Amino acid sequence: MRVIILWIIVWLVVGIAFAGLITNAYGDYFRTMGVYHKHNPQVCIMNPNPEIDDRLEMISDVTYSAINEWTDKLSADGGNWNVNITEYEWSEHGTATSDDYPNCTIFINYIYGVTNDSVGRTGFDFSKSWAYYYWVEIDLNTIERRIGIHLGESMNESTVANKIIWKQLPEDDIRNIVLHEYGHALGVEHYYVNTNCRVDECDYSPIMFGSIGVFDGEIKNVTSKDIDMVKRIYGDDGYGGFSPKYVPRECDINAEWYSRLC
Ligand SMILES: [Zn+2]
Repeated sequence: MRVIILWIIVWLVVGIAFAGLITNAYGDYFRTMGVYHKHNPQVCIMNPNPEIDDRLEMISDVTYSAINEWTDKLSADGGNWNVNITEYEWSEHGTATSDDYPNCTIFINYIYGVTNDSVGRTGFDFSKSWAYYYWVEIDLNTIERRIGIHLGESMNESTVANKIIWKQLPEDDIRNIVLHEYGHALGVEHYYVNTNCRVDECDYSPIMFGSIGVFDGEIKNVTSKDIDMVKRIYGDDGYGGFSPKYVPRECDINAEWYSRLC
């Protein structure tokens, strides 16, 4: 009898330890940028040069709408999640630098596009105490690779070459990109899907997942996991709240976070 009880206890202990291992091995996780906003963000939208893109109204609208989606969903259960948004025309900021706008803590810039495979980038400078900021760069065009084939009269005269075609990113894609990059500017690096999940079990829906499709007509949204990631950094009471901010480098999405220990 004694032996059996002991065996059950040992089994329970092993079972709990094993369950813990499973959580770590199969849980999705996220990483952070390592820095957070000390106050409510001041977002500065630096409108693009109308010569590279004349869709100014649409670009402004989708940027506001993406920022507001984050703010509304973060605020749904209370907390001080307000952000200030100011918009600057190209004629006002075209030759300016970040030093000219010391109040801005998130800059949103738009460029024509770059020749690598990314469509948006975010970086930060938190090195100065008097002006720290995230900068976000949104591409308005991207390249689409096509194989160009020229058939000659013989094999020797035929050529195959990479053709690079620049294409304007549509409205939905620009909004998706702003949603994703803005999440970086709030302090989230990426959401990682565990490599052991079977494809149909993997959750690729968070906007902070590291890759985004373009030209596929998909409309992305901020998910509850994205909101959870930001709240693990700032606490439920928001940017300006009393909760101590905690910036882990990596955090298991299933882990308890009573004391923000992830
Ligand atoms: Zn990213």
